[in-house]
Amino acid sequence: MEYKTGDKPGEGAYRCKHCGYVVRLASDKEALPACPNCGHHEFEKVKGD
Ligand SMILES: [Zn+2]
Repeated sequence: MEYKTGDKPGEGAYRCKHCGYVVRLASDKEALPACPNCGHHEFEKVKGD
């Protein structure tokens, strides 16, 4: 499953597909930002988190 900047995929951890930076969302109202590390816009869910 893939997510993009602006999606609200719910609480959990999402890893930038470009650099591996992990963004954490605290609630289902939070949207994914652009990656704070590299500015990329595609993320995948970190499993088991
Ligand atoms: Zn990144």
